[in-house]
Amino acid sequence: MELTFWGVRGSIPTAGAHTARWGGNSSCVEVRSGALPPMLFDCGTGARPAGADLVRRPGRALHVWFSHFHMDHLFGFPFFLPIYTPGYQVTVHVPAYTNDQARSKLARYLDGILHPVRLADLPSSVAIEATRARRRAEVDGWTVESAVLQHPGGSLGYRVSDGTHSAAYVTDTGPFARPDEGLSVGQPATRAEARIVEFLRGCNAVVYDTMFERREYLDKMTWGHSYPEYAMALCREAGVGTLVLFHHHPDATDDDIDALAARYAGQQGPRIVVAREGATLAVGEGAMIAEG
Ligand SMILES: [Zn+2]
Ligand SMILES: [Zn+2]
Repeated sequence: MELTFWGVRGSIPTAGAHTARWGGNSSCVEVRSGALPPMLFDCGTGARPAGADLVRRPGRALHVWFSHFHMDHLFGFPFFLPIYTPGYQVTVHVPAYTNDQARSKLARYLDGILHPVRLADLPSSVAIEATRARRRAEVDGWTVESAVLQHPGGSLGYRVSDGTHSAAYVTDTGPFARPDEGLSVGQPATRAEARIVEFLRGCNAVVYDTMFERREYLDKMTWGHSYPEYAMALCREAGVGTLVLFHHHPDATDDDIDALAARYAGQQGPRIVVAREGATLAVGEGAMIAEG
């Protein structure tokens, strides 16, 4: 199983010389394994290079899973080449109660006004399905589970397995405990933490929202984002192999992210890597096998 990071930035894309090395595109992560159809998590602006890469490969089916519909996770969908490629089968999973509601969420954006092409006029085969937090679903050879996160308006985290390895995509989310309780201060897990620890239990790799430093989190506790020490505490408790720091702050420069990576280099239990746009992680080894 491999993860490719097509977009690693949070809140808004950040093009420019100061983000060229770590990447300025917003959230989009691809998971693939052998001949299974690829899974794409969120369609921030990273979906544009992801789509260009996907249509060059032989497969003609894929699944897109949205964590939520904040714009940094949606911007790239109207520019995602597979939806303009006849013969492509794209199944889009949208957090919603019904398939009609899921479809209307996407149709609101691809409506001929906010974007020139309407959802109904796409030349590919796009199936839109509502998804809710549930224990387990079998999807084209993958096992997929989802969990409710802590984010204004809601967000879903996903866990996928190919039968050998498992990876989780957990963004956007704030901590599951107040700052003075729970795992990050060495106390027993809160009930909400226990639930998310079980969800992540034994995962080979977890991609986790660490947009803030702890100090900034304490100023913005209602914004629904976490910080590295919190993600580490959860992943340690859950026996996670590799924690991937993700959804980088839009103000973070390449030098800031270099410093973040240096701070956790060599850390074990969990091993820590920092998501870099264009990089690919070998989930079993927990190491980047290609840099962007
Ligand atoms: Zn976001
Ligand atoms: Zn969000």
